[in-house]
Amino acid sequence: MSSVSPIQIPRRLPLLLTNEGVLLPGSTMRTSVDSARNLQLVRSRLLKGTSLQSTILGVIPNTPDPASDAQALPPLHRIGTAALAVQVVGSNWPKPHYTLLITGLCRFQIVQVLKEKPYPVAEVEQLDRLEEFPNTCKTREELGELSEQFYKYAVQLVEMLDMSVPAVAKLRRLLDSLPREALPDILTSIIRTSNKEKLQILDAVSLEERFKMTIPLLVRQIEGLKLLQKTRKHKQDDDKRVIAIRPIRRITHIPGALEDDDEDEDNDDIVMLERKIRTSSMPEQAHKVCVKEIKRLKKMPQSMPEYALTRNYLELMVELPWNKSTTDRLDIRAARILLDNDHYAMEKLKKRVLEYLAVRQLKNNLKGPILCFVGPPGVGKTSVGRSVAKTLGREFHRIALGGVCDQSDIRGHRRTYVGSMPGRIINGLKTVGVNNPVFLLDEVDKLGKSLQGDPAAALLEVLDPEQNHNFTDHYLNVAFDLSQVLFIATANTTATIPPALLDRMEIIQVPGYTQEEKIEIAHRHLIPKQLEQHGLTPQQIQIPQVTTLDIITRYTREAGVRSLDRKFGAICRAVAVKVAEGQHKEAKLDHSDVAEGEGCREHILEEAKPESISDTPDLALPPEMPILIDFHALKDILGPPMYEMEVSERLSQPGVAIGLAWTPLGGEIMFVEASRMDGEGQLTLTGQLGDVMKESAHLAISWLRSNAKKYHLTNASGSFDLLDNTDIHLHFPAGAVTKDGPSAGVTIVTCLASLFSGRLVRSDVAMTGEITLRGLVLPVGGIKDKVLAAHRAGLKRVIIPQRNEKDLEEIPGNVRQDLSFVTASCLDEVLNAAFDGGFTVNTRPGLLNSK
Ligand code: ADP
Repeated sequence: MSSVSPIQIPRRLPLLLTNEGVLLPGSTMRTSVDSARNLQLVRSRLLKGTSLQSTILGVIPNTPDPASDAQALPPLHRIGTAALAVQVVGSNWPKPHYTLLITGLCRFQIVQVLKEKPYPVAEVEQLDRLEEFPNTCKTREELGELSEQFYKYAVQLVEMLDMSVPAVAKLRRLLDSLPREALPDILTSIIRTSNKEKLQILDAVSLEERFKMTIPLLVRQIEGLKLLQKTRKHKQDDDKRVIAIRPIRRITHIPGALEDDDEDEDNDDIVMLERKIRTSSMPEQAHKVCVKEIKRLKKMPQSMPEYALTRNYLELMVELPWNKSTTDRLDIRAARILLDNDHYAMEKLKKRVLEYLAVRQLKNNLKGPILCFVGPPGVGKTSVGRSVAKTLGREFHRIALGGVCDQSDIRGHRRTYVGSMPGRIINGLKTVGVNNPVFLLDEVDKLGKSLQGDPAAALLEVLDPEQNHNFTDHYLNVAFDLSQVLFIATANTTATIPPALLDRMEIIQVPGYTQEEKIEIAHRHLIPKQLEQHGLTPQQIQIPQVTTLDIITRYTREAGVRSLDRKFGAICRAVAVKVAEGQHKEAKLDHSDVAEGEGCREHILEEAKPESISDTPDLALPPEMPILIDFHALKDILGPPMYEMEVSERLSQPGVAIGLAWTPLGGEIMFVEASRMDGEGQLTLTGQLGDVMKESAHLAISWLRSNAKKYHLTNASGSFDLLDNTDIHLHFPAGAVTKDGPSAGVTIVTCLASLFSGRLVRSDVAMTGEITLRGLVLPVGGIKDKVLAAHRAGLKRVIIPQRNEKDLEEIPGNVRQDLSFVTASCLDEVLNAAFDGGFTVNTRPGLLNSK
């Protein structure tokens, strides 16, 4: 290329008003577009335009406040750069904007603004790179000396840079191949210049002037680089990694150089960091690493990605609580009172926690097992963890492990990764700011596993008192002492906790609550807490116990109290609206015909009336009465009841029995349904069953077939071979939930016995137990949760394996009173208890038709 290629720009150009930088011909820049005018321009010219011409814009620099959407056009800079839009990238975050990549073509001058809306368009006159321009030899001769001088400086500058960098080598080649006239613009945009200087160069329409103005800029840059190289030599630093075109930050006082506030700030930051490292009480090893890193940081140009990385690292190191801790105040009596005040029931858990704390008080050493609370959601596991922290006067931090499947989540990423971070343990320590917090490792049973390593293995190191005094996070790369941290874990089930982890922990089961316990918890804790959160007082809202019972039985079905708590939240919100509107008086009187909870309502009205009136004697408003939440109000607020007692309805046909299942969410009752049809003796099982459950079904059928004669069980054609010409279908409703385990054995037998005998199973009986081929009933787990579920569902009789009798001790007295328990060691006993009048050998199939 020997001359500037002539360019012809359109005479009318849409104007892009910018304030960020100055685009010079021959250079490229990115600019962000977010003002209404510019957005319009981009949309209608660049996104909708089809010709190459429509991608040429007039870029007007230095527009005061281009984002201002005022009616009038702001004063425009006289000279602009015609530019080609090479790329448009749009984004909606944080607000709608486009980023344009534009390349400068040539200067132009505004002759006249033709229209202002929706974006300005002007008639323009092209100022350089015209066709006649390169041919003016006279200009060349005149400028010869000047351009020669300029070229020499440019070459000197480029040769001072590191030629091994490809971009620098390319620049060197460009110096020779580009026409001299284009060099001032291009070099100005490359070297370090302020916007003001660039604007001056843009305004220098005459080439001579442009050369004259750029030479001092080049000289300044060369001086800067020389000084830099001298200082480098001085330090004997042969690290040639990056020599940026821009002079390195520290040399701010080159004569004529621009002051830069940012850099000063950065310098200050580094000095601050250094001071913090010096004064921090980190262990020697960590201190050494920090000193080394800060030395590296000082040498690094700020533009290097590693700069930010190192700085973040050092900031984390100085922030970590290496030696900061809170003093434990351990008073067992106070702890007991606090635990009792915060939590109702859960005696076993509270007892074990107190024991743990007592041992800590006597022996100031944490080398004990890690406590792990296992139970359904919403039974207060997290909340007890928080109370433990409170009793000890320690900071509390919860680390949610659900779904964590990468070990770097626990142990951090190595710093070589882009975006590397410390793991959750170190992050937690930084958040709490002390080295002896209570860490609640929530949901350890939901740890995942993936190609990125096993997070459970990383947790092992964290939890092992023998190892955790020098836990090394990959990001930190120096050991941190975790031995002062008190870890408490929670889980819904122990089945999915990795065995090695389970081995390090002491499991404390937290079973679900009975209805009575839930009512107490609601009235002692949940309701007062919700009232406070919603700014309500007991003078404004009353929730009687019958209503709470209604919510528990008809609107929630859970082992814990979490959705119960949410329902109270919903009620409080609804009442808050009424109270705020001051309209509740009539609404309450409307409900005087309510049938449910009658007695209780009267009782509360009597109590509340005098109190609320006397409480507000001097208010200008009439004395208020509390809004009473009765069943009607409940229906209004929460909608129709979600759960109805459907037990008796579903047991109106032979071939249905109720089993008791244990799930991580607590106990549940489970209907087992069976039907038979003509066929070839096949058994169909549906309802997402696991292998163990399928085997139980086969066992049950085999046992019934071998005992068919004894019980007079026949198939439809009266044969004792139950599968002769008969297919059986067994279904476990709630078909979407996977079910497994052996404890449904007795239920399947009962259900099939009912099907083949044609007799109804008692509608108030539920059962659980594993079976053997010989008809024995084996013990199963989760008895307390299962019994509570039966009680919740309003059943009266529960059949459990004899060897589970000891588990009944855990069941609260009131539940035991409401239920009658049958302990069975063989299937005969189960069947006798499950059918009215027993299921004796004498039972005749004739009963089938009578139903
Ligand atoms: P989990 O961690 O077991 O899922 P949470 O600790 O989050 O359950 O408990 C849910 C809510 O129920 C919390 O607001 C907690 O205070 C409350 N809660 C649970 N059990 C009790 C209890 N026995 N006494 C008082 N409040 C309780």
